Amino acid sequence: MIAHADNKPSWRISPRWLMAAAVAILVGFSLICGSVLLSMRRGDEKLAQQTLGNLASGIDAEIARNIEIYDLSMRNVASNMTSAELVEVSRPVRQMVLFDHAATARHFGAIQVLDAGGNVTLDSSTLEPKPQNFADAKFFTVHKRDPLFGLYISKPMLHNGVYGIVLSHRIAARDGQFLGVVTGFIEYGYFHAIVARLQLEPDDMIAVFRQDGVLIARAPFDENVVGRDLSRLPAVQKSLAAFSGSFIGSSASDGVERLYVWRDSSHPLVVMVGRSTGAIFGQWRREAIQIAGAMGALGLIACVLIIVLVREMKKRAAMEDEMARLAMTDGLTGLGNRRRFDIVIETEWQRAMRTRTPISLLMIDADHFKAFNDAFGHQAGDLVLCGIAWSIARHAKRASDCAARYGGEEFALILPGLPLAEAIELAERIRREVGALERDGLTTTTVSIGAACMVPSSDNASAQLLNNADTALYTAKSLGRNQTYPASPSKAVLAAA
Ligand code: GH3
Ligand code: MG
Ligand code: MG
Repeated sequence: MIAHADNKPSWRISPRWLMAAAVAILVGFSLICGSVLLSMRRGDEKLAQQTLGNLASGIDAEIARNIEIYDLSMRNVASNMTSAELVEVSRPVRQMVLFDHAATARHFGAIQVLDAGGNVTLDSSTLEPKPQNFADAKFFTVHKRDPLFGLYISKPMLHNGVYGIVLSHRIAARDGQFLGVVTGFIEYGYFHAIVARLQLEPDDMIAVFRQDGVLIARAPFDENVVGRDLSRLPAVQKSLAAFSGSFIGSSASDGVERLYVWRDSSHPLVVMVGRSTGAIFGQWRREAIQIAGAMGALGLIACVLIIVLVREMKKRAAMEDEMARLAMTDGLTGLGNRRRFDIVIETEWQRAMRTRTPISLLMIDADHFKAFNDAFGHQAGDLVLCGIAWSIARHAKRASDCAARYGGEEFALILPGLPLAEAIELAERIRREVGALERDGLTTTTVSIGAACMVPSSDNASAQLLNNADTALYTAKSLGRNQTYPASPSKAVLAAA
């Protein structure tokens, strides 16, 4: 009642809003930071895709070109074997006609011709091939059974004492009759040689698949998987199904997570290149940890600062509220002081003007107080003033009522909305109560009260209400004190009553 909340400065920032703004800023920064980190990661992934894609394309083109050249030579042999003229020429001439230089390339073995029984009849590396029979070998039986097979590429195997893959083509007569098979051989070292030329990361992997999913070569070499049918692995299925593409997955053989990229899966052998995500995102991870760490630390510092700031703001706000309250409070009695009275009377006057309701004012003055002071001393006088204030405050019950010490031994009670008659009743209750206050069994003092009531309008001002109450108080004094005297009510008040 003494200090009202409306004393708070209107511009004050609420600590809750400050906290919310700080949290929003922190979340915003984190989101920006997160999106920058994500786009950095995507950039690294894209770069790796390009690099690995180029690598896969290069290896794929090299293998495809060599196989094509070798395959052409083998097909040439297969078609020439059916020529009747070749039967009549000498062995050395036939050797020269049948075999070009394709079979002399490094890592590419001799081209051999097998008859319908699987016996080696011709060998590009010698005029006198040693007697051998491959009737049971898959590279032979496959053509015997299926006239339309085309180029067969074997799993890596030992062939004539060397580890590698055998390529074979069917030799057929003009009427389609099976005449035998022409074979070629690529040493496994060919794949090693390709990989050896490349600059690779430690965990990089290069795999060469046959179209049916059989792993033909792998770098680094892994005897557990090379030559095995891996067509059931989703990764292999994906790479053989799509012309080119990439995906991130964990290797079945070494468990390393890699980004796998392949290009042009239409060739007889499909090349897939994998680089460990550790190598691709290692630098990014380190930077991300540093940035996230720095952001976290800054965020933490910001949080601590905000908490300290909010606490200080709360303390300061409480202090300001207390100071504002004290600035409006009378030190002796605890009632509102003159400044508060001036503010409230003006505010209530304006409000009453808007609502067209009456506003009453009591001016209360201690009687013969100088004499009381002279008789009992100033300290006793102070206690009496506190007693009067207590009684007035007790009767200012409504939230809009305002009791104030107007000055010296004079008090005021603003009663918004109260008609004159009720204000007089209230004044009488205060007067009787104060008159009954005792000290050491003796009545202390009495009060005289001037009561005034007005309905504010544009023709009058709050000063007039004050003046009316003051005049009424003066009259009460002159009529003998210890009484309430009403100011003559205006027409408006009479109308309101
Ligand atoms: P009246 O009945 O005509 O009002 O006579 P009064 O003596 O009360 O009036 P006057 O204006 O002559 O004297 C007011 C006195 O109030 C003078 C002063 O000593 C006393 N007074 C004013 N403020 C205080 C205060 O804070 N404490 C005390 N103890 N006395 C005060
Ligand atoms: Mg007095
Ligand atoms: Mg006085």
